[in-house]
Amino acid sequence: PREREDMEFQAETRQLLDIVTHSLYTDREVFLRELVSNASDALEKLRHSRAAGSGCHDDDDDYDGSNVGDGGSPLEIRIETDEASNTLTITDTGIGMTRTEMISNLGTIARSGSKAFVESMRVRGEAQRSGTDASGDVDPFGRGIIGKFGVGFYSGFMVADKVDVRSRSAIKRRKDDGNDDDDDRGAVLWESTGTGRYSLSTLDRNVRQDRGTSVVLHLKPDMAQYSDERTVEAILKKYSNFVGFPIYLNGNRVNTIEAIWLQDPKTVEESKHSDFYKYVSHMYDEPLSTLHFRMDAPLDIKALLYIPSFHQEKYGMGRMDPGVSLYSRKVLVEPKSPDILPEWCRFIKGVVDSEDLPLSISREKSQDSALVGKMRKALTRKIISHLSTMMRKDIEKYRDEFYKEYSFFLKEGVCQDFDSQQSLSKLLLFETSKGMAGELVSLDEYVSRCPPESKDIYYLCAPSRELALLSPYMEGFSKSKREVIFVYSAIDDFVMANLKTFEGRELVSADRSEVDLHPANDVDGDANKGKKDEKDDDTSSRKSLSTAEATEFCAWFQTTLSSKVSQCKTTKRLSSSPAVITDNESGALRRMMRMVETQEG
Ligand code: ADP
Ligand code: MG
Repeated sequence: PREREDMEFQAETRQLLDIVTHSLYTDREVFLRELVSNASDALEKLRHSRAAGSGCHDDDDDYDGSNVGDGGSPLEIRIETDEASNTLTITDTGIGMTRTEMISNLGTIARSGSKAFVESMRVRGEAQRSGTDASGDVDPFGRGIIGKFGVGFYSGFMVADKVDVRSRSAIKRRKDDGNDDDDDRGAVLWESTGTGRYSLSTLDRNVRQDRGTSVVLHLKPDMAQYSDERTVEAILKKYSNFVGFPIYLNGNRVNTIEAIWLQDPKTVEESKHSDFYKYVSHMYDEPLSTLHFRMDAPLDIKALLYIPSFHQEKYGMGRMDPGVSLYSRKVLVEPKSPDILPEWCRFIKGVVDSEDLPLSISREKSQDSALVGKMRKALTRKIISHLSTMMRKDIEKYRDEFYKEYSFFLKEGVCQDFDSQQSLSKLLLFETSKGMAGELVSLDEYVSRCPPESKDIYYLCAPSRELALLSPYMEGFSKSKREVIFVYSAIDDFVMANLKTFEGRELVSADRSEVDLHPANDVDGDANKGKKDEKDDDTSSRKSLSTAEATEFCAWFQTTLSSKVSQCKTTKRLSSSPAVITDNESGALRRMMRMVETQEG
């Protein structure tokens, strides 16, 4: 066997090592995610190499190259905790590393052997086209491979003061003279304390070492929790539950749930959705609606989103947390991400997976937030279009199941998510003066029924439909046969005031002074704010005041109520009510103020 060899990390590697161990990751526990991802990558590479028939020797396996994954040691990840020696060991039966590969992949930080591998697969894939595809589940471009940044391995040093890597490569290499390259045979041990140096020793060839890699973390004294089985199990479940190879912790299988979001949406059965939904949402109902899609542009996204049949905010349980977690190639990047969807989407549960996301880089970095911003835009658009399709194709379901439960969230979106405001407003439904009680129409429907001369959208806020219909504000609209949207809550009122316009039409509150219903007639002109409690005792024998009388009456009114009104004037808008209060400010604002006052009082 070869002598033990001491090597030094390159200068940049030493510096980067310092960054990785001290500040790159905000959560220490992600070291396990990184090492498991590397193990998964190594297994994936083995699968690729076998499928491509690239000289796997696998002596012990009797492997004939035609049948991926059978014979010899199965493709799996084994994790062992040992509290007594305070170690954690991650073993895979993957492709392994030769001595040379250990030097270049582990001795050089920010050099990703995985990235190089994917690139070589791509080149080969291009050359062979259908070749590697033929094996079925092996993606010719190595998309199952997680690593590409070349820093993950070093995160082990966040928790360990010494790391040992034992590896035996599955690839047979020949020297130029045609003989096996002895350097690259047998198992190699790499050891480092992460402080600038590492050593390599070739293990005795007679010592049997299975194909693959074993990483032993000698945990720092204050990191002993990572040799505790329960802690390790929780971390594995959190980050690595969907890794595509079986993970065993001290002999027990940990990951049992399939990453169905990566499957072709058309092939996923209902029952799988039902199970997966329960897993991601921690709920026991069935999803009201499922949105499963993939896109390549503007960036790679695979998303599986569910709308639960109900939400929890109505039971006074407070604001829900976001419900969508961010993955990259099946590995958790951020649980319940607050950035991946706008806030109003917090009722949605599910996962978003993007190959374009770096696993390790912190969220604060601007390049990432730009990326996440792009994803948020694309996802929001998809969600809104999913809802409008539901509205178009199955209005009963949309109205009676979705809208009934979630209208509040859409309204919140209209008020807060400026980018989506207009498209969200198309999803709103309202009662109107024309329909029956309980009959709901969209703004588009309202507009389609407007007479051509009508340029605005009218709405009236009232405590109930009965009161809305009896309201003096309705008189002018009824007379001119204009449809008015009824809103019954301060929230709706606020939504209308926030929305301001819909498809170029102004949203006009019926109590606004300058409502123009009779372009030919003279109507209330200037803004006036009147308050009137005058009772007209003789409505039956109504006759108009002369202009002089009216002027005098208005003047009297204004002096009498000087502190309460800004102006008093005559109107032709009314037909049976004697007087009406109109407003020159936002009615919604005024009503909000009143609401605040009553709450305070
Ligand atoms: P990345 O995974 O982003 O490439 P890492 O720092 O996690 O970067 O790993 C560096 C390289 O070391 C990998 O690209 C791979 O070539 C090699 N490597 C790490 N762990 C293993 C393993 N378990 N089996 C085989 N190769 C490994
Ligand atoms: Mg990695």
